[in-house]
Amino acid sequence: MTAIEARSWVGGERHLRVVVVGAGFSGLSVASRLRERGEGDFVVLERGESVGGVWRDNTYPGVACDVPSHLYSLSFAPNPEWDRAFSPGAQIKDYLESVVRDRGLGPWISLREAAWDHDAQAWRIVTSERRLSADVLVSCAGPLTEPVFPDVPGLGRFRGKTFHTSRWDHVHDLTGERVAVVGTGASAVQVIPEVQPRVERLVVFQRTPGWVVPRSDRKIPEKEKRLLRVLPQLVRLYRLRQFAVRDLVNYRMIRRNRVLRRFLEKRFRRLLEEHIGDPELRAKLTPDYEIGCKRVLITNDFYPALAKPNVELIASAVEEVREGSLVTEDGTEREVDAIIFATGFETSESPILSRIRGRDGRSIGEVWEGRPRFHRATTVAGFPNFFNLCSAGTGSGHGSMIWMAESQTAYVMDALRVLRERNLSSFEVRHDVQDRYVRWVGKDLESTVWARGGCRSWYLDEGGRPSLMWPRTMWGFRRMLRRFDAEHYLLRSARLPGWGVERGEAIRA
Ligand SMILES: Cc1cc2nc3c(=O)[nH]c(=O)nc-3n(C[C@H](O)[C@H](O)[C@H](O)COP(=O)(O)OP(=O)(O)OC[C@H]3O[C@@H](n4cnc5c(N)ncnc54)[C@H](O)[C@@H]3O)c2cc1C
Repeated sequence: MTAIEARSWVGGERHLRVVVVGAGFSGLSVASRLRERGEGDFVVLERGESVGGVWRDNTYPGVACDVPSHLYSLSFAPNPEWDRAFSPGAQIKDYLESVVRDRGLGPWISLREAAWDHDAQAWRIVTSERRLSADVLVSCAGPLTEPVFPDVPGLGRFRGKTFHTSRWDHVHDLTGERVAVVGTGASAVQVIPEVQPRVERLVVFQRTPGWVVPRSDRKIPEKEKRLLRVLPQLVRLYRLRQFAVRDLVNYRMIRRNRVLRRFLEKRFRRLLEEHIGDPELRAKLTPDYEIGCKRVLITNDFYPALAKPNVELIASAVEEVREGSLVTEDGTEREVDAIIFATGFETSESPILSRIRGRDGRSIGEVWEGRPRFHRATTVAGFPNFFNLCSAGTGSGHGSMIWMAESQTAYVMDALRVLRERNLSSFEVRHDVQDRYVRWVGKDLESTVWARGGCRSWYLDEGGRPSLMWPRTMWGFRRMLRRFDAEHYLLRSARLPGWGVERGEAIRA
């Protein structure tokens, strides 16, 4: 991988103005905006073999987005070619590759570690191939990249095939096998209907049932796509409508709106009754917490698949894995040939957090200790010239993460403008400002469905607070980040190659 345009070499290291880690939606959003502004002195580091982030890694049968495609796209790269209202993963990956091609974003290298060098006022980055340094580091390493497996004894003892949904083994043929799916979350409800017709027997292990609502999916006819191609404003109109509906419904759900809750619960019950005849199975599939507390599952074919004669739902957590079987907390044991773990991702302990070290040498993970603290979900006190995208504080429940990433991208771009215009070498959010933000957002989070809805979800941090989430509208998030609030930062002027000013005292704007 080569840097898109390296600026200089400092002490044997290649020095760049900006290093972006991760080439998923967020990283490509930042890279595209940098290029638009004529910035060539940056690189995007990617550990994977291609771009795409979660859409490169998640190739399980049935994988698709559950935010409508025109909204689940980059605003500056509208796509009239989406085949379906909710696109399959492969098409989303193709779309991201086309963004790279169309914008000439170049190839990638991989990151091992990054640390802030106070004397040099720069980030030092060690990749698998070389050392780099950068004025500014932007982490776009993704919130859902590291697969999580249940912490149960015997996992290594299982003699059959095991895999996680995000690391699908396409060589292994499940046809005719007895297969277990562990988990009934967002990936499980997509994969189960695809696997069920192929296997002899499917045992689904469910710890907690999810609220399910129908997906208004449809094939987008060629005629409509032609229209979208000639009238790109129409794509924007689709997007606007999808955004307005999502933002309103999502916000009302976060705020525990009773009318919306009743409406969605009614849709859930109708769907359940339509497809599941057995009252015992219906009871197992009915959640005992408030809708919205966990991610609502948007699917039309999950319940029909569960109702098939070769499928069994066991409503108990897996407690042990044996050589040829799984055993649950209620003592049920089922023999299987393969186990598919649809058990989600590491969220609060993401590995990138232990690889980025700030001014005092501690990593973000060490500073946070499982309880994220940040300013405007994007910067962290003690980590100068650093932006953290699509990480803690950005989850919207059912909004588009791309919207959140692009809002943060705007903040990054404005900060770079301020740095350049004011000849600054570093910025670091003030601790008191960060504390104020954390208190403000924390108070708001306390009244949300994530905190009060009576469930445990991956939205919660180790202190049991939904600090991974943003409690207001997506629009509010964008407004908060439309301008870099330099007044909340410690700013330092300096002479660094390319910035052209003297190293100076720490100053407040
Ligand atoms: C199956 C699935 C479906 C989803 N569906 C939706 C949806 O419908 N709507 C929605 O809003 N969100 C959805 N999400 C959430 C999704 O994470 C975000 O929408 C979005 O893809 C995040 O983009 P990103 O670029 O921030 O992260 P990612 O897509 O995760 O990309 C991060 C990239 O960083 C790289 N990376 C990580 N660490 C390093 C390192 N140390 N060095 C170099 N590179 C590194 C990774 O390899 C990866 O390529 C879904 C997630 C999954 C897993």
